[in-house]
Amino acid sequence: ELRGTTLPDLLAERGWTDAEIERAPGSWAVIGSVVLVTLEDCPREAELGDALLELHGEADTVLAHEGVDGERREPDGRVIAGDPSTETIHTEHGTRYALDLRDVMFSPGNKAERARMADVIAGEAGPTVETDREGPERVFDMFAGIGYFTLPMARAGAEVTAAEINPTAYRYLIENAVLNDVQDRVEAYRADCRDVEVSGADRVVMGYYDAHEYLDDAVAAAASGGVLHVHEATPEAELWDRPVGRIEAAADRAGRGVEIEGKRKVKSHSEGVWHVVVDARVA
Ligand code: SAM
Repeated sequence: ELRGTTLPDLLAERGWTDAEIERAPGSWAVIGSVVLVTLEDCPREAELGDALLELHGEADTVLAHEGVDGERREPDGRVIAGDPSTETIHTEHGTRYALDLRDVMFSPGNKAERARMADVIAGEAGPTVETDREGPERVFDMFAGIGYFTLPMARAGAEVTAAEINPTAYRYLIENAVLNDVQDRVEAYRADCRDVEVSGADRVVMGYYDAHEYLDDAVAAAASGGVLHVHEATPEAELWDRPVGRIEAAADRAGRGVEIEGKRKVKSHSEGVWHVVVDARVA
């Protein structure tokens, strides 16, 4: 970012009125070489895009994000300034994510949780796993995407079985395992996670808002003493009863005990709704 220069300054230089500047976005994300911005009612989009490129000298492209659709989480967006290519490599805590932001999603707000998933493997944050088995922790990432959690966990030493149903995301998952030199620790399946047979997992990562529909499969995959990391979009009033209740019900159906070891807000999902993650140890 140019020291001391702000987006409103750059828009004013372009002749925007105060009322127009009011309608400009107050925040955006820089992902690799792409500035990702959500526009609600913003005028003069091309000029806004040019100003954002001027503000972020290292960026090549400005992509206006228009939401994410369906089970495969396919984003909608259009380039408003710069290079029409939206393929980039984003680096976060030393993990490199190649992706095309027009085809697959990347949530800047999940950054701390991506870091935490590496830290739990290193034994530095969240519930630890105790096994009498030698060797690395075994992780099942049921909704791997481009490797949001798979990559930092594998880089921290875990062996990860990763399922991803979207062919484009799967292609990046494979490419990213190589890019981060963890291809020997990642076994990736282009499949519905329910069709991937896993048992004895030390951790099951469920990074999907509809994860609760898959809890029976997650419990079945978990080792005794294994930990589920269950994500959910939860209305404020249902914290924490709904996510905890769903996990307890799934453990109950499997005749297994469960202990809740962590409850975290990841980010605000929408008005009055939180993206949360619950860590649950299955007996
Ligand atoms: N955790 C990510 C983050 O931090 O940004 C977001 C992952 S995205 C919300 C969830 C992924 O799960 C998508 O790539 C989608 O294609 C995939 N998915 C959805 N249903 C699936 C299923 N039944 N089996 C495997 N992958 C699935």
